[in-house]
Amino acid sequence: MKGKLYLIATPIGNLKDITLRALETLKAVDLVACEDTRHSLKLLQAYEIQKPLLSLHEHNEARRAAGLVAKLNEGRSVALISDAGTPLISDPGFRLVGAVLEAGFDVEAVPGPCAAVNALVASGLPTDAFYFVGFLPPKSAARRRRFEALKEFPSTLIFYESPHRIQKFLAEAYEIFGPRPAVLAREMTKKFEEFYRGPLVSDPLALPLRSWKGEFVVLLAGAGGARAEAR
Ligand code: SAM
Repeated sequence: MKGKLYLIATPIGNLKDITLRALETLKAVDLVACEDTRHSLKLLQAYEIQKPLLSLHEHNEARRAAGLVAKLNEGRSVALISDAGTPLISDPGFRLVGAVLEAGFDVEAVPGPCAAVNALVASGLPTDAFYFVGFLPPKSAARRRRFEALKEFPSTLIFYESPHRIQKFLAEAYEIFGPRPAVLAREMTKKFEEFYRGPLVSDPLALPLRSWKGEFVVLLAGAGGARAEAR
C-alpha cells in the first residue's frame, strides 16, 4: 500500500463541527501530526480515537517533514491536523505538503471548518471575490504599510488577528481605511459567538460588542463598497 498524507480540517470551537469522513480518516491513518499534542488529544479522545500523535509546528516542520516522508515510504498513512480549522491556513503544513508531493506521494484534503470562510459567508459583505490576508505583521509600522497597500483593493479583505492586538489593529485600520464597512466575527461556533457589522470607528472601544475576549476574524469591504453585485 502506498503512503498518503491527509489534511484534515477540525473544529474552530464547536466540537461537533467535524465531518464523518474526517473521523473515519483519523481512525484509519497510522499517525496523526498536529500542532499541540495535548490539544489534539482532547479532540481525539472526544471521539474515542487512539492514534500516535506527533507534534509539527513552524519551528520543527522542516525536520518533521523528512521523518513523515520516511513513514510514507514505509507504506504508512499520515494525517495532519491543526489546533483549529483547516491545516495550512495560517497554520503549519505548507512545507510538509511540498516535501510529500516532491517525494511522489499523494496529498488528500478532507474539508471542513475554516474561520475565514465561516466569517465571510455570514458577514453580509460581497463573497464573489475576496482576498484572504491572514495575519498582518505585529509591529505597527509594518502593519500600516500593509494596510496602505490594501487600501484600493476592490474585493472583500479578510484578516486574522490575535485577541491581544485586536483593538490596536482596528484603531490603525480606521486611520487608513476611515469608516469603511467592516465586520468583526468573534468566537464563531462557540457559546459567545457575536458579529459586529458596521463602519470602522476611531475608538474601537465604542463598538457595541458584548466582550473583547476570544478569537476574531476582521473583514473589510473592498474599495468598491459593501454591496454585492447580483450574480
Ligand atoms: N487554520 C485556522 C482556520 O482554518 O481558520 C486558522 C488558524 S489561525 C492560527 C487562528 C486565527 O483564526 C485566530 O487568531 C482568529 O483570527 C481565527 N479564528 C479561529 N477560530 C476562530 C473562531 N472560532 N472565531 C473567530 N475567529 C477564529
